[in-house]
Parts: sequence; C-alpha cells; structure tokens
Amino acid sequence: MKTPAFQTKLPDLGTTIFTVMSSLAAEHKAINLGQGFPDFPMDETLTGLVNKAMKDGFNQYVHMFGYGPLRETIAAKIKNLYGTAVHPDQEITVTPGGTYAIYSAITAVIHPGDEVIIFEPAYDSYIPNVKVNGGVPVVIKLKHPDYSIDWNEVRRSITPRTKMILLNSPHNPTGSVLNGADINELRSIISGTDIFILSDEVYEHLIFNGKEHQSILRFPDLMERSFVCFSFGKVFHCTGWKLGYCIAPPLLTNEFRKIHQFNCFSVNTPMQVALATYLQDASHYLSLGNFLQQKKDYFQQLMAATPLKPLPTFGSYFQLYSYAGISNTNEVTMAKKLVTEFGVATIPTSAFYTDGTDNKVLRFCFAKKEETLETAAQRLSKI
Ligand code: PMP
Ligand code: GLN
Repeated sequence: MKTPAFQTKLPDLGTTIFTVMSSLAAEHKAINLGQGFPDFPMDETLTGLVNKAMKDGFNQYVHMFGYGPLRETIAAKIKNLYGTAVHPDQEITVTPGGTYAIYSAITAVIHPGDEVIIFEPAYDSYIPNVKVNGGVPVVIKLKHPDYSIDWNEVRRSITPRTKMILLNSPHNPTGSVLNGADINELRSIISGTDIFILSDEVYEHLIFNGKEHQSILRFPDLMERSFVCFSFGKVFHCTGWKLGYCIAPPLLTNEFRKIHQFNCFSVNTPMQVALATYLQDASHYLSLGNFLQQKKDYFQQLMAATPLKPLPTFGSYFQLYSYAGISNTNEVTMAKKLVTEFGVATIPTSAFYTDGTDNKVLRFCFAKKEETLETAAQRLSKI
C-alpha cells in the first residue's frame, strides 16, 4: 500500500498542546490544571432540561440557523445586557462550539493573501484557521506582564491587505480583558477601512472584580463589521457539549451560513431546546463571574504557599503563574517536570506563541473543585 503523494496544507502543525498535556497528565495520574475544563458537575437544572427535551421528542434535525426559540432567547439576552437589538433569523447562528464559529467566520471572509492581525499569546486554533484559508497571520505580541495591546504597533501593522483583526476578551491564556480605551483605539484604527473584527467572547460571563465585559455587541458601529463568537460549553461548565453561536450583521451572517450549511448544517437539538428555557433565567449566567472569582481567589490563597508568583487575571478560567524567581528552565521543560515530578499538569504559555516566546510563565486552570485545587497547591508547595 502506498499513500498518494500530497502536499500538506499545514506543514508546521503538530498535536495541540491541550491534548499533549492532558495525555501526559493521564499517563502520570497528575492533577490536570492544564486543559481548560471544569471537574465539578454542571447545573442539574440544565441536564434535567436536556433529558426532558429528549423525552419530549426533540431528537431530529433542527433549523440550519439553530433552534428558533433559542435564537430568540439569545437576542433578548443581548438586548438586556448590551442594549443592542440583534435579529434572531438574520444575525444569530447556533454552532457546534466556539472553535467552529471562529473557523467558519474566518473561512467565510478570508481569501488567499489576506492579512489577519492576531495577538499573541493566542488561542491555538486561530493561526491554523487563517493559514488553511491561505490567509497570512500578522502576529502582534501583547505586552508582558499585563498582556495589554500596543495599539501603536497595531497601527503600524495595518496594510492595504489587512482584512481582519482578531480579538479575545476575556483572554485565554492570560485573563486580560479589553477596556473602554482599547475599544476607542480599535475604533479609530478601523474606521473608514474595510477591516472585519472577529471577537472571541467565549468567556463572556467569566469576568471578575466587577469589571464590565466590553462586548463588541455594545457598539453598533463595530458590530456592523464583526463576527462575535460564543461558547455555551465554557460558560455553563459543559465543555464536552461543544455548543456555541455566532452573531454577525445580516450580510456577514449570510456568508457565515454558506460555510456552516455544508459543514455541520444542523446542531445538536435537545441541548438547544434546553438552553432556550435555561437562558430565560438571567441569574444562571449573571452569577458565573462571582462563582469563578471565588475559585480564583481560593486558588491564589492556596498558591501563596508555593514559590510561584501570580500574574493578574480579570476573567476566563485561567491564571498565569511565573516561576522566573526560582528557575531559568524553559516553560515546556518546567511544565513536564511539574507533571512527572510533582503530579500537576499546566500549560506552558510559550505554546501560544509562534516564536515560542518564553517568559517563564505557566497557565493554570482554576475552574476546579476546591479539593482539586487544594491537592494541586499542596503538591506545588514542595517545589
Ligand atoms: N476560544 C477560546 C479563547 C477558548 O479558550 C476556547 C476553548 N474552549 C474556545 C474558543 C472554543 O470553545 P469551544 O469549546 O466551544 O469550541
Ligand atoms: N479552550 C481550552 C483551553 O484553552 C481547551 C480547548 C481544547 O482542548 N482544544 O484549555
């Protein structure tokens, strides 16, 4: 047997760091604070609603745009939270997860040679998604250690080929968030251009210390050129559901659906039916920031007994910790050492950089049960 000769579309790509570290964690029976997933049970009200939907017979294909009542509920939620009217039929598409929504948005508008501005450290799917479409990632580093955007560098990086700016707030892996000044800078850079915005807001409700999420959905002048992507898996602690949605103005939604309808076509029905009811109670999502903040604060308190130093986080499931004070080892080696010798898996932040930038910081997921965080911190106190 001989495989036909072929040219790979993504020559530089290996296995995602999340799979690498989770496999290593399983192999060494380590506590997995690497890949971002909760180890506590999700809300039984929501699983109950899914069971009910299945028993009620919602088990066949749902509309290509997503379950109608769910799209209506999402529109009402957006109106309440951000004051923007979004049309459920023309501007909302339910997707199998946030990653898929991001991929579909990029695929819908990026042509070969188009440049996409991406801030690093970056969630690992963005660059391959751009490249597989023949696009050119233009990478700008966030400023270490606060991981804010250098807008002057963004200005200098704009060319006639710039087609999209990809934003992520709250940010994975750093937990930094965009503020009003960032939005104004963004606005001044793109006004009068044909640049699209892709805003990854999968951690929408997971924001701390009373900070207000600067959703692109708040700003009609930015919305008119944006794809805004969300994930139910992240916010409702069910990452295995792979369910999300994309909001975009009608013309862009139309392009988005051209990709969606011949890729996935129709997304899991009973979960959409359940969410249509669940989302009607705003406390289900408005309580999430406090819930996660308590975990973050508790973890920080426990980690004070270790030599690792926290960097600020304002949202997401994650906190970066620096080990620069105790070692000069590179992040990948350090992360492997923590799994094999101390039984705790993390993610080396260098994995989120194309050039492997190594600031001696590791990403920890604190969306875990208290006892998990306690055991992990206790193990790490022996470093
Ligand atoms: N964007 C970011 C920044 C993420 O951390 C994740 C991981 N969940 C996603 C997108 C993808 O979400 P989903 O699991 O719904 O595909
Ligand atoms: N978003 C999750 C993280 O950053 C994991 C996603 C994945 O495993 N691909 O850890």
